[in-house]
Amino acid sequence: MTKAGIKIEDVHLSFGETEVLKGVNLDIKPGEFFAFLGPSGSGKSTLLRAIAGFGPDPRGRILIGDRNVVGQSPWKRNVGMVFQSYALWPHMSVRDNVGFGLKERKLPNAQIRPKVDAALDLVGLAHLADRMPNQLSGGQQQRIALARTIVVEPEVLLLDEPLSNLDASLRVQMRRELLNLQRKLGLTTIFVTHDQEEANTTSDRMAVLDGGVIQQIGTPQELYDTPANLFVANFLGTAN
Ligand code: ADP
Ligand code: MG
Repeated sequence: MTKAGIKIEDVHLSFGETEVLKGVNLDIKPGEFFAFLGPSGSGKSTLLRAIAGFGPDPRGRILIGDRNVVGQSPWKRNVGMVFQSYALWPHMSVRDNVGFGLKERKLPNAQIRPKVDAALDLVGLAHLADRMPNQLSGGQQQRIALARTIVVEPEVLLLDEPLSNLDASLRVQMRRELLNLQRKLGLTTIFVTHDQEEANTTSDRMAVLDGGVIQQIGTPQELYDTPANLFVANFLGTAN
């Protein structure tokens, strides 16, 4: 798969009078597993949606590879996004759910099938291809949602709290699976979470957000060792 970096340059975004992204700058490298960490309401989802092209266009520039995607429709951006609520089509089999995006792209059935099989294989659920979504556990549904996203070979993978509907032990297991999958594909990934341990154990680097402002960017180690301010120290639990 093609790896693209993501550059965010002076991005501002308002809902009505309220500015929720207040000048965000980021440079995410091709193939990096990058986390957005911050409390609820800090602007993580808004920033992720701005990259994906959902919601209003921000001011500033968002580059995927060397393309400024601001103003581009979501399907032209070549991003894959997975949400907290995975929302598989309830009336379609696993196979049809995963193949849906390829069908939309008018790929012939003969080409869809091997791609769907390969994507299901990657998430370890090839044996469930003929099940219906309501015959799957939460973890299995989330793996299918991942397969459905990577099957179209996006350049970047955007994950908005994808594990927070799962129970604690499954969350830890899925975290590991997600990281393995990302490493295998080498896909540039942004993982949004409010859970510092989740960000800490997965990401190459992370950005801590508060109030629509990035408080610090660095490796988990750098942030723990030298938090930039009291907010970061408190949020990471390193303040005494
Ligand atoms: P997070 O994902 O970090 O919890 P969000 O990006 O969802 O935060 O929200 C950031 C802020 O923007 C919040 O104050 C939220 O209420 C506000 N917000 C988000 N989406 C909308 C919207 N569509 N209309 C108005 N305000 C919004
Ligand atoms: Mg959110």
